Amino acid sequence: MIESHHTDIVVVGAGPVGLFTVFEAGMLRMKCHVVDTLEQAGGQCAALYPEKPIYDIAGYPKIGAQELIDRLTEQAAPFAPYYHFGRRVERLEKISEGGFRVHISSGSIIECKAVAIAAGCGAFGPHRPPLENIEAFEAAGSVRYFVARREDYRGKRVVIAGGGDSAVDWALSLAEIAARVSVVHRRPKFRAAPESERKLNEMAAAGRIDLVVPYQLAALEGEGGKLSAVRVASLEGDEKTVAADALLPFFGLAMELGPIAEWGLNLDKNHIAVDPATCVTSAPGIFAVGDIATYPGKLKLILCGFAEAAMAAHAMHVLVHPGEALHFEYSTSKGVPA
Ligand SMILES: Cc1cc2nc3c(=O)[nH]c(=O)nc-3n(C[C@H](O)[C@H](O)[C@H](O)COP(=O)(O)OP(=O)(O)OC[C@H]3O[C@@H](n4cnc5c(N)ncnc54)[C@H](O)[C@@H]3O)c2cc1C
Repeated sequence: MIESHHTDIVVVGAGPVGLFTVFEAGMLRMKCHVVDTLEQAGGQCAALYPEKPIYDIAGYPKIGAQELIDRLTEQAAPFAPYYHFGRRVERLEKISEGGFRVHISSGSIIECKAVAIAAGCGAFGPHRPPLENIEAFEAAGSVRYFVARREDYRGKRVVIAGGGDSAVDWALSLAEIAARVSVVHRRPKFRAAPESERKLNEMAAAGRIDLVVPYQLAALEGEGGKLSAVRVASLEGDEKTVAADALLPFFGLAMELGPIAEWGLNLDKNHIAVDPATCVTSAPGIFAVGDIATYPGKLKLILCGFAEAAMAAHAMHVLVHPGEALHFEYSTSKGVPA
């Protein structure tokens, strides 16, 4: 359904920094709509490494990536953000009387006073192997590009494809609970951390992991999206079949700025150049925070993104509440505004 909305700020991206932008904006009495191409909040944390612990979030000696997202979502909740999941921001249009009209992929429009781009590396998706009918297996969950829940693979025959850290780390981890783990890689040598590769070879020698090298994925077998085997082929054309209930291809991520590259903002190697004092981009009213924003000395860390969200929110206040003085206040003094 095509809808038309009005709000103070549109946040592009519901990763950790986008979520914290909602909180910082809320603390200054600004409402947000948040748009994300993914079906859930969390950006890289939720999509790529939900079960990994993060050790450098201030105040948390250790916190799981998904838990961090749950807490950020909870922190933003009092400000009732409106989420548009599974939607991409396609176009920003300047409104003559001030503000922007944000066009999203559903066809809906959101009018706002300011835009905060928290789009990480851009809309990202996995590099998918070009296998016939793979969509049916993806839809049925037999082929996945990240492990959301390790337990889903207990007792299963898992084929992992790829030669980097993700492939090797997950092979080692799932070998503890899966019925069988086979690793398909086109070279005998892996590109993983040396210690992980050593462990992989050790487990292969002990017969706990099958190394299917040098082979590449050739075809999927099964009915109605339910996988029964993966066919692999060597460069010489030898084929063999590996019985499988699940395939996890780890060929890295395709990250693309997508439409953001066409919004006329100053870019620096696929990042948006901002003024580090306010996170404003080359276009007044459009801000960028988190991984997508760059300035001299930028560190792509979640904690830096949080600080950028606070600075951007203060800079956006004048656009949302023009003429209103903004007195800097601690959260301990004012609490969380209702
Ligand atoms: C394996 C791994 C481990 C990491 N470990 C750490 C760590 O220990 N500590 C740390 O600080 N950082 C770590 N990072 C980096 C951290 O995850 C990023 O710095 C952080 O996710 C950046 O947050 P963000 O909100 O800026 O962007 P992201 O998390 O990338 O979220 C951006 C969101 O924007 C959406 N988006 C993009 N374009 C559009 C569009 N046009 N329309 C709608 N939505 C769009 C994307 O779908 C995505 O959900 C790690 C990263 C990886 C991959």
